[in-house]
Amino acid sequence: MQTAAPGWAEVHAWVGPERFFANGQGGFRVACPVAGSDLTGRFPAALEAWRGGGPRRIGCECGREHELDTLRYRPAAAFASAAVECVDPPDAELPEAVAAAVAACWPGLRQVLRRG
Ligand SMILES: [Zn+2]
Repeated sequence: MQTAAPGWAEVHAWVGPERFFANGQGGFRVACPVAGSDLTGRFPAALEAWRGGGPRRIGCECGREHELDTLRYRPAAAFASAAVECVDPPDAELPEAVAAAVAACWPGLRQVLRRG
């Protein structure tokens, strides 16, 4: 489905198999949700293992295994089976009324900013 909104180049709605949404740029950081340990170096292998059919988990220096969707991502990232993609929006934030309407219809929505 594709639609347009005033001042926005494109808005796409997507529903499909769960996938990982991230900024796709340098500077991406991943940390343990318990101790804050840096997991950036080992995250790509864990993500690829999951994409290959493995568990969506990562071993951590804190001695635990964490579900990948519980990690701290900077900038924000998310696993999702549905998304709304806004291409070249005039502002990085949704207008307040739109954000409120989306949050009411879609609790747990996360905003992931990316370039490219
Ligand atoms: Zn940990």
